[in-house]
Amino acid sequence: MFDPTRFTSDRARRIDASGIRRVFDLAATLKDPINLSIGQPDFDVPDTVKEAAIRAVRKGINRYTLTQGVRELHERITRQLDEELPEWGTAVRSGEQSILVTSGVSGGLVLAMLACVGPGDEVLIPDPYFVMYKHLVTLAGATPVYIDTYPDFQLTADRIESQITPRTKMLLFNSPSNPTGVVSPPAVCADVARLCSERNILLLTDEIYDEFCYEKTPRHGKPRCPTPATAGLDMLLMRGFSKTYGMTGWRLGYAVGPKPIVEQMTKLQQYSFVCAPSMVQVAGVGAMDLDMSPYVEAYRQKRDTVVSRLTGSFDLTTPGGAFYAFPKVPERLGVTATKFVERAVQEHGLLIIPGSVFSSRDTHFRISYACDNKMLNRGLDALLKLARI
Ligand code: PLP
Repeated sequence: MFDPTRFTSDRARRIDASGIRRVFDLAATLKDPINLSIGQPDFDVPDTVKEAAIRAVRKGINRYTLTQGVRELHERITRQLDEELPEWGTAVRSGEQSILVTSGVSGGLVLAMLACVGPGDEVLIPDPYFVMYKHLVTLAGATPVYIDTYPDFQLTADRIESQITPRTKMLLFNSPSNPTGVVSPPAVCADVARLCSERNILLLTDEIYDEFCYEKTPRHGKPRCPTPATAGLDMLLMRGFSKTYGMTGWRLGYAVGPKPIVEQMTKLQQYSFVCAPSMVQVAGVGAMDLDMSPYVEAYRQKRDTVVSRLTGSFDLTTPGGAFYAFPKVPERLGVTATKFVERAVQEHGLLIIPGSVFSSRDTHFRISYACDNKMLNRGLDALLKLARI
């Protein structure tokens, strides 16, 4: 008899997606949920970007592009690097570093894992982590090694150092962080870059939330999000368009790094994703000229609302970026985060995500404040009620 499960690989079956699926299954049963679980902005793609994509489609930019991405986008990314990370811009021009346009940062992460790590390699991941990290490392056949960052969620050089072994090959660094929203200050970024360089570890810096940073520091004439990339070139830098321009469904990102690494990623892209969507690449060029600061300012205010309303009732590390907060379930309630989230859903129709989805601990929960203020305040009201029980 035909048994479809016989045809699925151990590799696929080993991935357990049950945690997040349970939240979405619960969501499907609710009529008017207060949804603070969403990992994408609540604003739409700016009109000029939509129009640029439509124009590109009408002009016939509908075919495969070069695997590495269209020339105009490479030039625009290089200009961006010139402006904020001049050594990177120079290294791209000299050919020491290369750019690969990817299908979202997710696409870049898949390629980086497949190109760089495999059986016997260890990849350092902060705990809590962006869920995809753990699974991509496993998919590539390597071993995830977690670095506990509780209670302040800073991935410091000290914390990293104690987990390095002769097998450590890569470190995944993510600031501003999903799920905690924590931003690494410049000194931490520099220390981490130095440590990785000294210990011969490839640092992958996932900067998808770089625009949503409320703790920017001046760099080359403008406030910018701190990054380890100011401390050297021996790393892979990934940035995306999904969050900054509200275009999560359009699938665009890029990776910049040492040429031999990016070459391997490009080869793998050629035989998998082929290229990022052609019209989206063209629209992405103009998107990079837009000033998104009013959107970021609106999110900063939402962040302030979350912090001011929850402080006192929940232990909460002030998130410096992204659009998440990661409060701790009050210990006196005597429940796990999973239980707390079940109560939130059942008693208030409030959707939040238990920390166990992103962590070995089940003590905190993630809220996303990427929603309108009315929904956010309803959600915060519900959380305050739950904390009072
Ligand atoms: N990295 C982090 C930390 C994220 O939170 C996300 C999305 O939630 C991604 C990467 C993937 O983004 P995309 O593939 O849409 O660029």
